[in-house]
Parts: sequence; structure tokens; C-alpha cells
Amino acid sequence: MTPPRAQARVNLAAIERNCARLRSELGEGVALCAVVKADGYGHGAVQSARAALTGGASWLAVACAQEASELRQAGIREPHVLVMGALNSRELEEALAAGADVVVWNESSVQAVAGAGGGRVHVKLDTGMGRLGTRDAEQASRVLAAAREAVGVELVGAMTHFATADELDDGGFFEEQLATFASWVGPIKAAQPDLLVHAANSAAMLRDVGAHFDMVRCGIAVYGMDPFGEDPDARELEPAMELSSYVAEVKRCRAGESAGYGRRFVAEEDTWLGVLPIGYGDGWRRGLSNNAEVLIGGRRHELVGTVSMDNITVDLGADPGAELLRGRRAVLIGSQADERITAEEVAGRLDTINYEVSCALTPRVPRAYHRDGAPLRPDGNRRGADARAVDVRTA
Ligand SMILES: *Cc1c(COP(=O)(O)O)cnc(C)c1O
Repeated sequence: MTPPRAQARVNLAAIERNCARLRSELGEGVALCAVVKADGYGHGAVQSARAALTGGASWLAVACAQEASELRQAGIREPHVLVMGALNSRELEEALAAGADVVVWNESSVQAVAGAGGGRVHVKLDTGMGRLGTRDAEQASRVLAAAREAVGVELVGAMTHFATADELDDGGFFEEQLATFASWVGPIKAAQPDLLVHAANSAAMLRDVGAHFDMVRCGIAVYGMDPFGEDPDARELEPAMELSSYVAEVKRCRAGESAGYGRRFVAEEDTWLGVLPIGYGDGWRRGLSNNAEVLIGGRRHELVGTVSMDNITVDLGADPGAELLRGRRAVLIGSQADERITAEEVAGRLDTINYEVSCALTPRVPRAYHRDGAPLRPDGNRRGADARAVDVRTA
């Protein structure tokens, strides 16, 4: 059977191992919160969440209320889900209805939680990110007090978020943020030992044990991508996603002939071209025009010409054996034989970060789940409603 035109295969066992590997660096009693926002960084939120929990995560975090509802509707009743983003009143109701924890940094949002029937809150101090949270430590302390007192409101946590944890040469800004947070939260934690204190994303978790506190919020590393943009191998992270297509057509391209919109590739000498039915409509970005490589038959081949919405072309070389590659699987992110293309490599070519590469994949790309190559068994290693032999989601 020819492979699907475009497919993202997600190895849930890799997500489990990444979580176990992250857990192994955490002290006793420090929780791992797996961040599964943006559909699990493009990997599928529900499946990723389950794998992360199997791997030792004990909390989940998302960006918005709808993402919390999605997890609950899929049957993930435990553990706690933290909605990290800003919420309007309707979204706050949805988050609380999903039994999710929410983030607050002013008294009016504590009152809004109380008014919506109550819920669990985390107070956020902005120590330098400059987004959500209050910059004012005294205000943050007043919000803590308000949350302790408001009827129906349960004060659960105190948190912050780092702006430069992934930049090792940030001129000490990470340490400054950490110090600001530690000096605010230290006495509070001493007075209330059951308060859950958390600050670290993946980069902070990997770079400084002093940023772990009671819980770390890891996203990118859970999926086996490197928060510093380096080869994930170096930090023993295992990419969970493979992106593939196949060679739908092989054709002769004579010297002087072109391929694709705008004739941005013109053959200098006779060659063979392969056509792969994947394009920017799938999230394989147009910035990769004349600027990527693809694995076919265990070797790297250059993407040539413009990436179009539904197709790309690759130069298969002058060898007449190229014709035999028709129908073969093509790997855009992942490994074949001794070759490997990482999301970090693709990100480097696009001048962006690995996060954006996996998040860019559109719903048109079916996600297929497996554990180290074995299709998921209907019951054994999956719980819940979406247990199917191979869970392929199309939209
Ligand atoms: C997305 C996010 C995280 C996870 O960041 P990674 O770099 O993917 O580990 C943690 N905390 C907050 C507040 C976030 O928005």
C-alpha cells in the first residue's frame, strides 16, 4: 500500500520516556506538569497527555479553557489541569466547569472566580516576562490573601514564568527573575508549606535545579524537542514526531526545465524530480522553498523550487535508478537509515524555533499513534474512549 500523502506519526513511548527522563532530574516530591497546549504542540493533546501521565507527569497545563474541556471530555478526569492563559468571563466559566485551576493576579479576578461558583487558583507574579501576572510583589501578596479569604476559592499555587531560560547568555536575566521570585515566594511558602510553587519551563528545568520549586511545567521537552534549539540527543530527549509523505511521481527534468510556481528551480543539468504531495497547506512552510532536505531511500535529497499548498518537489539526481523511488516513503522530520532530520534543523532553516515547526502542522495531516512501532492495542496500553487500534485523526 502506498503511504498516506502526509502523515505525522507520534511515538507515545517516546513521550513516556521523555517524561521519565525529566522526572529523574527532579527531587523527591517535585511534580512534573506536562504542558499540552496547542494540541500538544501539534502532537495531539489527549494522546500526549495520557502518555505523559504514564511517563510520570502528575499535572497537565494548557493555555485556554477550551483545551481544558477537551481533555475532560476525552475522559481525563484526573489529575489537575492548569489553564495558564488569560480568561474572559465566559472562558473562566468554561475552565471552572472543566474543574481546571486558573491563574489570577488581581483582586477582581479572585472575585470573578468566587462569583462564578468558586475554583482553584494560582497567583502569578510577573518577574520580568512582561506578559501576564502583576509586576508588583505587594499586589501579588494581596491577591494571595484575597484568594485565601474568598468563599469558594481555593488558593493552590504561586507562580512565575521566565523570559530567557532558553538563552544561556542572557546576561544574568534568568537569575534575576529567579531571585525576584524566590525572595517573594520564600516567606509565603514558609508560612504556608502546602502552597504549590512553580516557575520552570523546560529550559529552566534543565538548566537550574534551583528553579524547580514544587513543580516544573514542561512542554517542548516532553515531545523530545530541545528547548535550546540544539540536537535533542545531547540532552537525551527523543523526538516523538515523525513527519512523512511519499514520492507520488518521478519525472525527468531536462537542463533548462523548471519545477513549481515562479520557476524558482531551473535544472542546470538533466535530473529526475520527485513530487511529494505535502505542502504549506499541511504546515510544511513556504519558507522551506529551495531550503530543505527530505529523506528518501535512506539518503538526503534537496527540496527544489517553491513549496506550494499541496506539493513539493525534490531533486532525486541524474541516476536512472531514481525512477525506482516512485511510491517510496519520504521522511521530512525523522530518521531513515543513518540519516536524521530534526525539527530543530527545519526551524534553523526557517529562522524560527522548533515549537513553531510542530505547531504549524495543520489538521489536514492525520496523526497516527504508536508505541515504538507497535500499533496501539485496543485496551492494553490505552485507557479511555479513544482506544482504537491505530488512532488516526483527520479533520
Ligand atoms: C508554554 C508554557 C510553558 C511550557 O514551556 P516549554 O518551553 O514548552 O517547556 C510553561 N509555562 C508557561 C506559562 C507556558 O506558557
